[in-house]
Amino acid sequence: MEGVPARYWHRLDDGRIQCDLCPRACRLHDGQRGLCFVRAREADRMVLTTYGRSSGFCVDPIEKKPLNHFLPGTPVLSFGTAGCNLTCKFCQNWDISKARELDRLQDLASPEAIAKAAHRRGCRAVAYTYNDPVIFLEYAIDVAQACRALGVRNVAVSAGYICDEPRIEFFRHMDAANIDLKGFTEGFYKKLCTGSLQPVLDTLVYIRHHTDVWLEITTLLIPGHNDSPREIEQLSAWIMQHLGADVPLHFSAFHPDWKMMETPRTPARTLIEARSIAMAAGLRYVYTGNISDEASQTTYCHACGTALIGRDWYDITAWRLTGEGRCAACDAPCAGVFEVRPGAWGRRREPVLVSVGA
Ligand code: SF4
Repeated sequence: MEGVPARYWHRLDDGRIQCDLCPRACRLHDGQRGLCFVRAREADRMVLTTYGRSSGFCVDPIEKKPLNHFLPGTPVLSFGTAGCNLTCKFCQNWDISKARELDRLQDLASPEAIAKAAHRRGCRAVAYTYNDPVIFLEYAIDVAQACRALGVRNVAVSAGYICDEPRIEFFRHMDAANIDLKGFTEGFYKKLCTGSLQPVLDTLVYIRHHTDVWLEITTLLIPGHNDSPREIEQLSAWIMQHLGADVPLHFSAFHPDWKMMETPRTPARTLIEARSIAMAAGLRYVYTGNISDEASQTTYCHACGTALIGRDWYDITAWRLTGEGRCAACDAPCAGVFEVRPGAWGRRREPVLVSVGA
C-alpha cells in the first residue's frame, strides 16, 4: 500500500534520506523502513504508511489514559495505529507497538469520521494512544483539526521521544498530554528502550512552559530497574524544579510482559512508598495506578487536605470542587481543567466501529 507524504526529513549527500521526526534519525535507502516500521522511504521521499488505518477504537474513561485533572469522569474515544519509535522490553501494548503486519489495522477511518464518531457518542476528547502518536504525526494532526472543528478536544499519550521542530507542531494541536517518564537514568532508557532520557525531559519542559497543554506524567515502576527510592527522589526533585508542584504524577504497576516475563509484578507497597517520596519532595498530586487503592488514587486539596475528587478505579466517588475548580472547604485552587460537575461515564469500556464515511 502506498503511503502518504511525511514531514520532517532531509536528503543526505550519500543518497540516503534522514528522518528528522524523532531522535533516532533513521537514515534510509529506497524501500527501507525506519525503526518505528511505519515511516518509510518510497523512491525519493518519506511516507507514513499507516495514515487512516487504526488498530481499533474504544470509548474509555479519561482516567484510564491516565489523566486525573482533565475533565474528570468524561468519556474519551481512544485509538492507535501500529509501530513505535522506542523498543521497551517491558512494553505493555506490544501486540500493537511491535506490529509488523499492517493488515491487522482493520479500521479505515478518515479524520472527519473519527471526529464525528467522538462527537456523536458524547466524547469530550479523542485520545491518541495504544502506540505512540508521534510516529503517526500527520494522521494525528489531521484528526485533531477535525475534532477541534466539532468542539472535541485532543489528548496525546506519548513517550515524548520527538525532535524539537515536530514537537512544536504536534503539541499545538493537543489539549492534554500524559507523557511517560519511563525512568530517570540514561542507562535505563539505553538498556531497556534503546533510547535516551534527555529528549523526553525536553518534551516535558516544552509542554509545561511553552504550551497551554494540560500535562500529567506516568512512570511505570519496574522492580529492580527504576524503583529505587533514590531514583524516585531524583525524578521527583527534577519535576519539582523544572515543572513545578502542580503537575500530576502517576506511579503505575508493571506486570510481566513482552521481553520481561521473568520480572515480577510491582508490589502495591512500592507504588505507595514512591507516592510518599514524591509528595515529600513537594509534588501536590501523586497517584498510584494498576492497583486497587482508593486512598492513593483520590485527589486531595494541597492546602487543607480535603478529598476533592474521590476515585475507585475509574469511578468518581466524591466531588468537592467549586465551579471554579477550587476546594469547597478552603477555596484553594486545584490545578487542572474542570467543569462545574464531573462526567458520569464511570469505568465502562465500549469498543466502537468507525467506518470511512461515518
Ligand atoms: S520516527 Fe521512525 S523513521 Fe523517523 S527517526 Fe524515529 S524511528 Fe526512525
